[in-house]
This record gives sequence, C-alpha cells and structure tokens, in this order.
Amino acid sequence: MNEKEHSEKIIQEELQGNTLTLEQIQSNTRKLYIESYGCQMNFSDSEIVASILAKEGFNTTTQLEEADLVLVNTCSIREKAELTVRKRLEKFNAVKKINPGMKVGVLGCMAERLKSKFLEEEKIVDMVVGPDAYKDLPNLIQEIDEGRNAVNVILSKDETYGDVAPVRLNSNGVTAFVSITRGCDNMCTFCVVPFTRGRERSRDPQSILEEVNDLWGRGFKEITLLGQNVDSYLWYGGGLKKDFDKATDMQKATSVNFAKLLDMVALAQPKMRIRFSTSNPQDMTLDVIETMAKHENICNYIHLPVQSGSNRILKAMNRLHTREEYFELIDNIRKINPECAISQDMISGFPTETEEDHQDTLSLMEYVKYDFGFMFAYSERPGTLAARKLEDDVPAETKKRRLQEIINLQQKHGLFRTQQHVGKVEEVLIEGPSKKSDAHWMGRNSQNTVVVFPKENYQVGDFVNVKINDCTSATLIGEAVEYSKNN
Ligand code: SAM
Repeated sequence: MNEKEHSEKIIQEELQGNTLTLEQIQSNTRKLYIESYGCQMNFSDSEIVASILAKEGFNTTTQLEEADLVLVNTCSIREKAELTVRKRLEKFNAVKKINPGMKVGVLGCMAERLKSKFLEEEKIVDMVVGPDAYKDLPNLIQEIDEGRNAVNVILSKDETYGDVAPVRLNSNGVTAFVSITRGCDNMCTFCVVPFTRGRERSRDPQSILEEVNDLWGRGFKEITLLGQNVDSYLWYGGGLKKDFDKATDMQKATSVNFAKLLDMVALAQPKMRIRFSTSNPQDMTLDVIETMAKHENICNYIHLPVQSGSNRILKAMNRLHTREEYFELIDNIRKINPECAISQDMISGFPTETEEDHQDTLSLMEYVKYDFGFMFAYSERPGTLAARKLEDDVPAETKKRRLQEIINLQQKHGLFRTQQHVGKVEEVLIEGPSKKSDAHWMGRNSQNTVVVFPKENYQVGDFVNVKINDCTSATLIGEAVEYSKNN
C-alpha cells in the first residue's frame, strides 16, 4: 500500500460512506438511512442532521432497502468525490424501484455547488439541502411528503448549529469532534470550500465549553476542535469574521481568539485530551503554539497543510505566505514545542507547476520531515479562481508521477519520525481493538501516531503508558507498562 492510500485509509477512506446509526426512540416510526462522504466536518454535520431528524420522528437504519428517507452528505473537494456520490445515487435509484415510497435527499457541499441543477441532473433526487440549511429540514421533508421537490441552499451569516446537541453516531465513546467554526474566508484558488460552505463564522465559546463538559460527563476522553481554519477562530458576539472591523469597542475588548479558546477548553477539562484541525499557516500565531506548550492536555500535534513548496505556486494558490515564512513557523513550533508532530496536505500538478516548482516541494518536505501527509493530484473545481483563470495544463501522467515522488518521500519521513519513538514510554489513549489482531488494543499517542499493544487487562478509554518496541512508517508497536497518571 502506498502512503497516500495508507494515510487516507487511516483518516478518511475507512469512514467514507459510513452509515450512521443512533439509539432508537420507541415513538419514532419513520426510518432514516444517512451516508457521509468527505471531511471530518461532514461527518460532524451528519450528527447534527440526525439530531434534528430524531425530533421529527425518524430512527436511523443501516438497511437501505427499508428506509423511508435516504440522505447522502456529499463532498465536492475533488472530482473523484463527486463521482463516488453519483455512483451511489445510481444504487439508490435501483432500490427506489423496489421501494417507490423512498425519498432521496442530497446534503452538503455538492448540494450547495449544484443547487437545483441536481434535481434535473439526477432525476431520483427529491431534496437538495446546503450545509447551512439543516434546521429547515422539517419543512423540506414536509414538502417532499406532499409530493413536491424541495431545495434550500441559502448560505448563512451566523448559523453555527451551536444550539443543536449533536447525536454521537457510531461513536467509540472515547473520541469526538466538536465543531468551532464554519465556512472559510481564505479563497485558496484551487478550493471549492468558500463557495460550498460560505463565509467564515465562529461558534459561541460558551456552547463549545458546554459540549466539551457534556462529552467529559459521558465518558469521552479526547476531543478535536474542528474547522476549515481553526486558528482564525474569533468570537465577538456572533456574525462573520470579515465583519469584525464593524464590531463595537466592547465587543472587540471581550472577543475570544483561538489561543484563548484553547486555553478555556484546556482549563475546563484538564484531563480531556484536546486536538484541533485544520491549521492554516498564515493564521497560526505564536500564542497558539505557546498555549499548546502551556497545557499538558493539549496534544503535541499540528496539521499544517502547505500544498506546495514553491513560492511562485503558493502565490498562484493565494496561500498568503511564502516558503520562508512557513519555515519560520516550523522553526518556532520546534523551538517552543520540540515534541510536536506536524502533518501536511500537498497538491501535485497545480496549473503551471514546473519540474523546478516540484523540486521545491520535495526540498520543503526534506526540511520539515513531516510525520504524516495527505497528498493529492490537482483536480480542477468549477467556479474556483484557478478554474476560471488558469489552464489545467500539467498532464495527468506528470501529476501522477510527481504525486508518487511526494508519497515516496513522505513514507521515508514517516518512518524516520516513527523510529524516533522506539525505546520511549508514551501515553496512549485506547480507542478500540486493533484491526489486525483481536488480542491487541489500538490507540494514539499525543503526536496522533497509531500505537498497537497487547490488551492485558486494560480497557477502551484507559490512558496507558506504553513502551514502544518497534515501528512501521505509520504505526508504533509496543507493550503496556502501567496506567498513566491521567486516569
Ligand atoms: N482548510 C484546509 C486548508 O486550507 O488547508 C483544508 C481544506 S480541504 C478540505 C483538504 C485538502 O484537500 C486541502 O488541504 C488540499 O490539499 C486538498 N484539496 C483542496 N482542493 C483541491 C483540489 N482542487 N484538487 C486537489 N486537492 C485539493
């Protein structure tokens, strides 16, 4: 398995298309089948949708054939993601022939991108709902019940779903995502997210703290604060980030930035492990790194996508930082928090990328030696600035070859990083059984590296000190020493 398959498998592909189920409510009579694709944010959104529909008389089912309502939460980030969903819709169409009463709804980024065009292109779809319109689902479902198609793709200035308690679906009971921002203002030229998820807004810190406290009360031991660009978090009473300039002096004086939010969450639950994703280099400030170093319960791991190592390509991508500024940030992270693991997202074959630009990407990787990576060939997305202004001129073969070189180098660096853990004793939070062996637990260390070790008498949710004896390029293999002091 190459690194791309491997890393995507760990973090994304094993989840793709997951059918989400929750506890059954006796009085609910209708059956909902919900499938999710794409980023963690989408999986988190499906938990909000399930919560809203539980109040509308729906219990979830994993049996597509018996569903009254089928919802597919979609991703538009690359063309392949959209093709996967279209294939699934063909399958739903076949089932609809057996169960003509079944209704099909498309949620998420593809719904937002294609809007009512979806109803024309995919005749079997009854309902199209964008990421900011989930509270309208009860009305939209009434429309389709009465035989009309229903669409709501209005993007919002202030919707954060802070007042909807997500239902944890197919949860391991140990780790959970907590959404803190929605949308993105970065306008990277390759990226469809600002068009499908709207402008950036932050969630009320009080509602974040309530959710974290509630999760701790229910036995969860680790949370990941989630957003497209978490370091840009800014609460000043609600509203878009871009309107902060218009806030009152009082609102500005009492505003909460990401470093402050991290501090508040870390103090509220000192034994809860805290992670966050995704960090955008241009928005990550020293006070965030210092806050990480200050609190033992904030994990030593930063997902810091760079996309390219070439200054010319970074500019064409509108990434708003240079290679040199990125190195400065990496140096600061290593200085303030030497134990910190760093991962990347990388795109090969962005329009106009030359062999020299590609070599810059490889040399940037040599400098950082990332612990993990998520690597992709450029996929032109309709409506983005790159699609409008730049020809997709790097041949598919070249994109593929460069991607493979990036993957090979990442695999080498992954092994270099995992080898640094061998011989050490590290705290691991047990998430569940190892996929490869029923006799072993699987968990993660602070750096987010997967650790497997013999079960002995330890249980899911325990913090265990594990002696690391061996490694592959992505996994640490060890044996338990004792419970850690965090239990
Ligand atoms: N907000 C994060 C950021 O700005 O770094 C992550 C956004 S996206 C959900 C995850 C990754 O998908 C990106 O970091 C990028 O590497 C990749 N991606 C986004 N658009 C792409 C495109 N058009 N073609 C290929 N990969 C893409």
